Amino acid sequence: MSTPVRHDWTRAEVDALFNLPFSDLMFQAQTVHRANFDPNEVQVSTLCSIKTGACPEDCKYCPQSARYDTGLEKEKLMKVEAVIEEAKAAKAGGATRFCMGAAWRSPKKKDMPYVTSMVKGVKELGLETCMTLGMVSEDQAQELSDAGLDYYNHNLDTSPEFYGDIITTRTYQDRLDTLGNVRAAGMKVCSGGIVGMGEGQKDRVGLLHQLATMQQHPESVPVNMLVRVEGTPLAQEEDLDPFDFIRTIAVARIIMPKSHVRLSAGREEMNDQLQSLAFLAGANSIFYGEKLLTTANPKKNKDMMLFDRLGINPEKYETEQDEEEQEQAVMASIEEAKNDQFFYNAAK
Ligand code: SF4
Repeated sequence: MSTPVRHDWTRAEVDALFNLPFSDLMFQAQTVHRANFDPNEVQVSTLCSIKTGACPEDCKYCPQSARYDTGLEKEKLMKVEAVIEEAKAAKAGGATRFCMGAAWRSPKKKDMPYVTSMVKGVKELGLETCMTLGMVSEDQAQELSDAGLDYYNHNLDTSPEFYGDIITTRTYQDRLDTLGNVRAAGMKVCSGGIVGMGEGQKDRVGLLHQLATMQQHPESVPVNMLVRVEGTPLAQEEDLDPFDFIRTIAVARIIMPKSHVRLSAGREEMNDQLQSLAFLAGANSIFYGEKLLTTANPKKNKDMMLFDRLGINPEKYETEQDEEEQEQAVMASIEEAKNDQFFYNAAK
């Protein structure tokens, strides 16, 4: 029997879940998980950085901010064709969703034709599409939705109270507004946060409470463990107790029973045992691939070896097209993009 979806969680209730004895929390999370999902299936996404670095925002954890000297090599917006090639490789590697990320405050008008072409091309491959491009207006969200974008990622990062310690160049409300625009345009929402940034349990409670009291829960909830990158203000942050990370996943699973909870950044630093605990706590989505935007991600085959050892199967994404039809559709979409001169010209 699947669990009812509630949107009226109180902070006290969420806090009480965090405070449960670990085994009781895991039991509840696993019970909710089994009532709503196949417990041995994990959705696999691949992430591609379509524009890297030189971001004007000041997110203290992020190596892509132009404000911090992290030695990251800046890259311009990738060509549509190159993105589609990456998506093909991701599909061949077993991914069902292809996420494209750009380090922007928000996309500019001139960027929109390129990104919408990317969405169309990747969709033609039979992959689900997700983008993270910063803040989007109502019109931009509609344009992306019209192009066929399935998911838009925009994280809340942390609790409203702790948020100002981490980012000053956009407000919490700006983030909520973007999520509202994404929903209004009919796309699915991917939104979560980062733990291990020096926040307290009350902030992890605050973050999950914010997500779980939305009118509609995000379909995808990434829970990231801070990756400390030299040169960023959070480089020297103290380790978070790994059990607190697992508790965050378990509570997210319980209070957002139908959402995919994603084990995201920070997986490289987790051993197989910790990742297995995260699956047991209800995580059922991962990023798969060599890089997670700019920080290393466990190698693809290592992930599949762990899946094998745990008896986990990648979740399927059903598409009506066969391989040949998909190939033809992709070629047509590339040609269309070329004719419309949507290919990025680095000289411009
Ligand atoms: S997290 Fe996003 S918005 Fe913030 S600095 Fe990094 S790329 Fe820019």
